[in-house]
Amino acid sequence: MSVATEQHLIAPHGGELVDRSGPRSDDLDSLETVTLTPREVADLDMLASGALSPLTGFMGRDDYERVVDEMRLASGLPWALPVCLAVADAPKGDRVALAAGDGRPFAVLEVEDVYEYDKEREAERCFRTTETEHPGVARLFAQADRYLAGPVTVFDRLEPSFPELHKDPAETRSLFTERGWKRVVGFQTRNPIHRAHEYLTKCALETVDGVLIHPLVGETKSDDVPAATRVKAYDVLIRNYYPQDRVVVASFPAAMRYAGPREAIWHAICRKNYGCSHFIVGRDHAGVGSYYGTYDAQLIFDEFEAHELDIEPMFFEHSFWCKACGQMATAKTCPHGGDDHVFLSGTKVRELLANGDLPPTEFSRPEVAEILIESYAQK
Ligand SMILES: [Zn+2]
Repeated sequence: MSVATEQHLIAPHGGELVDRSGPRSDDLDSLETVTLTPREVADLDMLASGALSPLTGFMGRDDYERVVDEMRLASGLPWALPVCLAVADAPKGDRVALAAGDGRPFAVLEVEDVYEYDKEREAERCFRTTETEHPGVARLFAQADRYLAGPVTVFDRLEPSFPELHKDPAETRSLFTERGWKRVVGFQTRNPIHRAHEYLTKCALETVDGVLIHPLVGETKSDDVPAATRVKAYDVLIRNYYPQDRVVVASFPAAMRYAGPREAIWHAICRKNYGCSHFIVGRDHAGVGSYYGTYDAQLIFDEFEAHELDIEPMFFEHSFWCKACGQMATAKTCPHGGDDHVFLSGTKVRELLANGDLPPTEFSRPEVAEILIESYAQK
């Protein structure tokens, strides 16, 4: 891709797209192997692709401490969440092999540092709670007690769970450039897209050149809708209701951290690396339970100067169908009361789908609802 065409897109975070893929080492057999958790595997794959640019490996102490304290890397560049590799003991050598759960090494890390960290403090600062009912905190407290830091070289990219949706940052950038897009809005989701979120993406699309629907397919809570079902539902929605030349669908390989506000910043920075100039932040982005205030994930963007993040957040309210307006609306755009609004709680929707009943078309496109019903029926 030439510089001349790339220059239309937003620059990656820190200026350059990092590429940590490289040749297989010939001394693998002699190296100690560290087995990664699914979250660490997802992070490593994102390090390889440049999705976590400018990071070149798992964070050292200076980056880690400043990220936890101030949401900045040691260089001062904004960064919201630790990207760390937990180990029980310091390795003996200066290089280690990194393996996924199957024990097969797929990367090498040059050991720069091994350091102890304070789990309570990381939880309090990053998750705003130390309660172990919080899935992110539970995972943090369960992991090993030291962080192993250093640059990585990934020689074997993992088989993506949805190969047809797998696109690295260089590939989405290339697609946007081919289409002549300059302004692209990214939409993060870990749920099926009903009318409410379809509306937000389309409102955003009215002001930019294209939309990247970027569903997270990494590890989520077990009660979230399975990624395979969601992927089918995204496909049918986009084929039927979006102009094909204005939308790109790709998978976002990250694991959910459920860190709410900080994760919203982190998600935005990652999408900047994929070439998005704008990013949709709804209410309670990346939240779980009632740990975060409704608007916390929007307010946190004010802790940075606008030019620092570069990517522009687009804040949205919950939307609904209003019978009196005769269209989708939000509290910002509709003067009518709740009686005119078609609103279904998550529990009510699950109940309908589990019984094989279609929710009202003002709430969900029937094609999408049918796929969800089918998935419930197979349980
Ligand atoms: Zn109304």
